[in-house]
Amino acid sequence: MNLQTDVCIVGGGPAGILLGYLLASNGVSVVVLERSFLTERNFRGEHINYETEMLLKEYKLFEKIEELGLLRMERVEFFAGKQIVKTITPGPDEDHVGIHIPQSHLLDAIISKSQQYDNYQLYLNTSVTELIQDDREFFSGVSAIRNEEKMYVSCSVVIGADGRFSTIRKLANIPFAKRKHGYDILWAKVPAPKGWKPTTRMLHVKGHQLAIFTQTGGFIQIGWNIDEASFASLKKGSFIPFLTPLVETFPELREIALKHLQSWKDFVCLKVESSLCENWVMDGLVMIGDAAHTMTPTGAIGINCAMKDAHVLAPILLKALREKKVDAEYLRAFDERRRAEIIKQQEMQIEEEAMYAENFVHYARN
Ligand SMILES: Cc1cc2nc3c(=O)[nH]c(=O)nc-3n(C[C@H](O)[C@H](O)[C@H](O)COP(=O)(O)OP(=O)(O)OC[C@H]3O[C@@H](n4cnc5c(N)ncnc54)[C@H](O)[C@@H]3O)c2cc1C
Repeated sequence: MNLQTDVCIVGGGPAGILLGYLLASNGVSVVVLERSFLTERNFRGEHINYETEMLLKEYKLFEKIEELGLLRMERVEFFAGKQIVKTITPGPDEDHVGIHIPQSHLLDAIISKSQQYDNYQLYLNTSVTELIQDDREFFSGVSAIRNEEKMYVSCSVVIGADGRFSTIRKLANIPFAKRKHGYDILWAKVPAPKGWKPTTRMLHVKGHQLAIFTQTGGFIQIGWNIDEASFASLKKGSFIPFLTPLVETFPELREIALKHLQSWKDFVCLKVESSLCENWVMDGLVMIGDAAHTMTPTGAIGINCAMKDAHVLAPILLKALREKKVDAEYLRAFDERRRAEIIKQQEMQIEEEAMYAENFVHYARN
């Protein structure tokens, strides 16, 4: 199969899917290529902040997402042992302290809006394997494998929105710095106890650092910080010591935890790392979202940063396509608008992680 389009977006996560919608709704022809079927997206960044909420409302996407289901968080509570040492509640003009949106709801809503446009095409189960350059050495397309068949997409601009392990970054030889943060996270998801309000609970209990997020649909997601790269050796022992601080602090969780967490198979390990590409633009190519700058889970900002990239890039791309200028120099406006903010947010994550781990009670009280 051979396709011709203005923009080919590689990766159908929050960054790629939002950018596809913003371009298609402005008359640009877009092809989005996504490796998976987008059905199984548990344990991803799923908390949006106020700024992202405003963006989704501005683009008339929020209502559709709300129809599919979301949860406004009422408070954040910090526990030192069993004692709450700090509570954050919404400010005077706010009705939440963050919104939980399952990524499947977010993506389905935006895709269904995008598919109203004839100039929008999404191909799932399609893995991009090669970048194509023209005789000026501008990136001008990709080749991909779909149902064991090769397909080619020719375009004016390729977008690398293919996440933290980006194939496009590798194929374009873009240098990037990777940073470890000394910890990984074990995630588990279980039904919420009856009567639990939409709350994020941050815990420091008997040397364990945990977070519990109430989620849309009556679930809670529990995260345990563990030493970096320790999961393989932890798995040789029992997982019960991880449940003890949890159920001691919240006895109402005991029965649920014992029923739903019965072996290490019920846990997923997220390797925590951050990264930053040296450059996000080349002739005919732009990198966005986790592929350009992976964030750590601290502050749950990954998805917000990814979608803001799409919001900032869309008008720059629309102008570039109109003026037929897709060289790196022209596209650099995107890098100039976003890089300083991303670097600042990555630095803040490092500061927060250091303060949180070393001095939880002091941090929670200030
Ligand atoms: C396993 C995992 C767990 C996470 N957990 C958390 C968390 O707990 N808290 C948090 O804040 N953030 C978390 N994140 C990060 C958060 O989900 C991201 O910041 C956010 O989704 C970034 O959006 P994105 O669109 O840039 O990338 P992604 O959401 O990663 O989307 C990239 C998409 O590209 C597709 N893709 C990759 N390679 C190719 C290819 N060659 N061809 C076609 N498609 C391709 C992938 O299938 C994927 O759908 C997690 C990420 C991952 C991968």
